[in-house]
Amino acid sequence: MDEGTPVAGGHRRAAGGEGLTPTLALAVGGRGVVDPAEPVLRGDDEALVRGRAAFETLRVYGGIPFALAQHLDRLAGSAERLGLPAVNRLELEELARQALDAAGVAEAVLRLFWTPTPTSLALVSELPGHLDALRERGQRLISLRGVRADEPWLLPGVKSTSYAVNMAAEAEAKRRGADDAVFFDGEGIVLEGPTTNIWWRRGRTLCTPALELGILAGVTRAAAIELAQGLEYELEEGSYPLGDLVGADEAFTTSSVREVMPIVELDSVPIGRGPAGDELQAALRRQATLRG
Ligand code: PLP
Repeated sequence: MDEGTPVAGGHRRAAGGEGLTPTLALAVGGRGVVDPAEPVLRGDDEALVRGRAAFETLRVYGGIPFALAQHLDRLAGSAERLGLPAVNRLELEELARQALDAAGVAEAVLRLFWTPTPTSLALVSELPGHLDALRERGQRLISLRGVRADEPWLLPGVKSTSYAVNMAAEAEAKRRGADDAVFFDGEGIVLEGPTTNIWWRRGRTLCTPALELGILAGVTRAAAIELAQGLEYELEEGSYPLGDLVGADEAFTTSSVREVMPIVELDSVPIGRGPAGDELQAALRRQATLRG
């Protein structure tokens, strides 16, 4: 997920026009690198039968996945909350290395999966081709009612493969002529996007919904919080009505593949552009390309 519109020529398409970018390489626990066209899951794996598996999506810079340790931490936490066997981190790291070697590209998307059987997968795909153009133009979002995960069985902060609802929200946004969605809860409080965290700026203060709202603890969100301090912005995490986002000086999303992406419109109301998104994007790129 978090790839937005697929590049032309993506070979897997779903009914809503959404799809993954082309697969470059796949490595499977106990087998190593396999032909991506080969079946890799048992038919009775609950990942397939019930969408009960944990996954991560990472961006690869210069052949190195960004913040791999943080993504593995979150994967381990998701697996625990889903009642899956403990994640084999070393195996997943090795599979990631093998798949990236086999893909042989510097810039890519890496997905890690951990299923109940357990099966571990590392999937490398092409980076979507439209991201720089989208960053230049800015995203148009629509607000959609979402579910606030405020009970443990709503799996707050868990990144599971039950993402059909998130993809349906993204497809609805596209159907209405927008690029993506932002969820709000029954009280009109801003939550997150289907595959992004939401941010906005008020003067020198950057605001983002608090993790206590049951949203995903984005790895990019955490990186941006750190970087914002270096850029001398104040940071505020809390519970905010949608009107705060619409009335912001500027707004943007954060996510692993799309990085920091400006929002220029919400529900057809323009939102101004500003320096914070661009500064954070530049700082994130610097960090990602220096450290991996
Ligand atoms: N929120 C949701 C629901 C997501 O699915 C994602 C990523 O796909 C994010 C936020 C952003 O998280 P990250 O920065 O770790 O990619």
